[in-house]
Amino acid sequence: MAIATPVAERTRHFSSSARALLINGEFEQASSGKTFDTVNPASGEVLASIAEGDAQDIDRAVRAARRAFEDGPWSRMTPSERGRIMHRIGDLIMEHADELAELDCLDNGKPLTIARAADIPLAADLFWYMAGWATKLNGGTINPSVPYMPGAEFHAYSLREPVGVVGQIIPWNFPLLMAAWKLGPALATGCTVVLKPAEQTPLSAVRLGELMLEAGLPNGVVNIVTGYGETAGAALAAHPGVDKIAFTGSTEVGKLIAKAATGNLKKVSLELGGKSPNIIFSDADIPAAIAGAAMGIFFNQGEVCSAGTRLYVQQDRFDEVVEGVAKAAKAVKVGPGMNADTEMGPLVSREQFERVTGYLAKGEQAGNRALAGGHAIDGPGYFVEPTVLVDTKPDDVVVREEIFGPVIVALPFSDVDDLARQANDSEYGLAAGVWTKDISKAHKLAKRLKAGTVWVNTYNVYSAELPFGGFKQSGWGREMGEEVLSNYLETKSVIVQL
Ligand code: ADP
Ligand code: MG
Repeated sequence: MAIATPVAERTRHFSSSARALLINGEFEQASSGKTFDTVNPASGEVLASIAEGDAQDIDRAVRAARRAFEDGPWSRMTPSERGRIMHRIGDLIMEHADELAELDCLDNGKPLTIARAADIPLAADLFWYMAGWATKLNGGTINPSVPYMPGAEFHAYSLREPVGVVGQIIPWNFPLLMAAWKLGPALATGCTVVLKPAEQTPLSAVRLGELMLEAGLPNGVVNIVTGYGETAGAALAAHPGVDKIAFTGSTEVGKLIAKAATGNLKKVSLELGGKSPNIIFSDADIPAAIAGAAMGIFFNQGEVCSAGTRLYVQQDRFDEVVEGVAKAAKAVKVGPGMNADTEMGPLVSREQFERVTGYLAKGEQAGNRALAGGHAIDGPGYFVEPTVLVDTKPDDVVVREEIFGPVIVALPFSDVDDLARQANDSEYGLAAGVWTKDISKAHKLAKRLKAGTVWVNTYNVYSAELPFGGFKQSGWGREMGEEVLSNYLETKSVIVQL
């Protein structure tokens, strides 16, 4: 499959950009002078060569972030001034929405139409929403009772202060949006940042760096080091000058981050994997539930940590529903993301393509039957068919492990108790979907599901206002909403004896 649409001028600019590291407000080469290639997954061809930052560059970036935090204009700005810069960042994202959508489409593979309709506006909105928090981070007054100081009077209050220099490591599935999720709360709280984008998709983060400077963000407040996880990422997670590390990615690497953070006991927040159940009761609006199940897994090629990967259908409607989802899978228009009619693009990389097709092979060996798909699509490009697997058993690898591709496994259930047990039988707990017209059943089940997000009669609804994150091995802490701010704040008690 070839790319139908010509590549934007802006993307060509990046193809010669070895000066991708943003350190103290300047775009620089890596200290080593090395670059690495980022590939267009729709063609397998090299898209751009980007500076390959390593531990030395991370160290330079951390020092710049420290200076900006301790001395720079950033720490002396009023919350209102910080909020206005953040608003301008959101505005500039929307002014450059077409270009940013194209960068994410080319780098990640996702459909351009979806990047333009979802990723980019969500990223802008995250900055606008968090800009409002900058002026609303107040502590409180407290009346202490101190039994061993009878008669003493106090005036006590709490302050909420930025945690300091923050390291942020993000994945490749929503390149710009994941940068926004991370940067928004860090900037609202007054922290300074070293951001490491995923090596598969560094382009839009670098462009965002340019836009943030244009918006008036002072030098050193956000530093961006492109490079590999094992080198640049690991150096950031272990760096003693970093006060807090925020990570989104695989559970496997999340555990490495948590270990690396023990050196200086930096604060850690983790948004990790999932194996989310999407649950359809017999009394659901079945056509809507079928469409929701298909969207829940095929959106963004299934490369979504909260993808609805385990489809549980009440026994008496099982055949009807899975046939419906299989029909929807066969109708998905797969192609290069740049094509206007593409609904699902290629997987992000050869590695990811091999991971997903490896799971398809394991499923076949275990006797799983593909009602739709089940195979790779002939290249070039890393395309895999939208796949619906049945005849699975609860302990099959494809039922237990995160595939991170367009593969759904379907299992039947008898009643609510059977369902709740099966749905919660996972080491993950990121999200869940429930389809029923019985509102009491939906709310009762929402309480029983061990998941950070429960969607009822819908799926994949995200908003800057809604906290997002996981139970169990899906992570520590929450992204977005008011709740994420606590990841970036220290609380200080001040006690004055009167
Ligand atoms: P995937 O395997 O699907 O690419 P990862 O969890 O490996 O997902 O990647 C998510 C992010 O974590 C990327 O930015 C990647 O560079 C980074 N990363 C990978 N390995 C490490 C590591 N050992 N230490 C720190 N960051 C890492
Ligand atoms: Mg990895």
